[in-house]
Amino acid sequence: MVTRQIADRGVRDQRVLSAMRKVPRHEFVPAAERRHAYRDTPLPIGDGQTISQPYIVALMTELARPDPSDRVLEIGTGSGYQAAVLAELVQHVYTIEIEPVLAQRAKQALDRIGYRNVTVRAGDGYAGWPEHAPFDIVIVTAAPDHIPQPLIDQLKAGGRMVVPVGPIASTQQLRVLEKDTTGKVSSSVVAPVRFVPLRRNSD
Ligand code: SAH
Repeated sequence: MVTRQIADRGVRDQRVLSAMRKVPRHEFVPAAERRHAYRDTPLPIGDGQTISQPYIVALMTELARPDPSDRVLEIGTGSGYQAAVLAELVQHVYTIEIEPVLAQRAKQALDRIGYRNVTVRAGDGYAGWPEHAPFDIVIVTAAPDHIPQPLIDQLKAGGRMVVPVGPIASTQQLRVLEKDTTGKVSSSVVAPVRFVPLRRNSD
């Protein structure tokens, strides 16, 4: 999967590729989908949600430019797979999932495999996680129609945010937002992507 579907499509960062080789994706998908775990497609994980396509996980991880000393915030834990890939590469991952059942399941999978540097919380990620801010990296794996201001505020100077932005039920733009050392924010569009919408607790 990693060589043919990820490296051959342009992901070059060797640390990212070796993290992708290490994380057992089948541990993050329901038993009924396990035989498809190493196909390069999203798969259902229950509650109408999906585990992202491995290529997209690798691409977003590479775009975040992870460093071993980084502290990361992920919004949209889902299965926990993206969190596990990040956990191979950074110091600590804080991840928020709005659906309590999924948060619990992801926590169990991460504990079972032995990731000690991931903290999972059930809640609305729109507001980020101020108690642990600021973060070197913010990765959003559900699509908001605008970039949540609390997430920009909780990004460290010199930090990177990777986020799919766009209207519900349409293709979104994968954006990389960078905050420079003076706190100025700039962003660029990388690729069209399709994520489930970022929901709000009031939805
Ligand atoms: N990163 C996941 C895939 C994410 S799918 C993985 O590796 O498997 C998107 C997830 O975002 C879904 O589980 C959905 O329930 C969650 N989500 C949607 N809106 C959210 C919000 N406001 N805060 C936190 N999680 C949210």
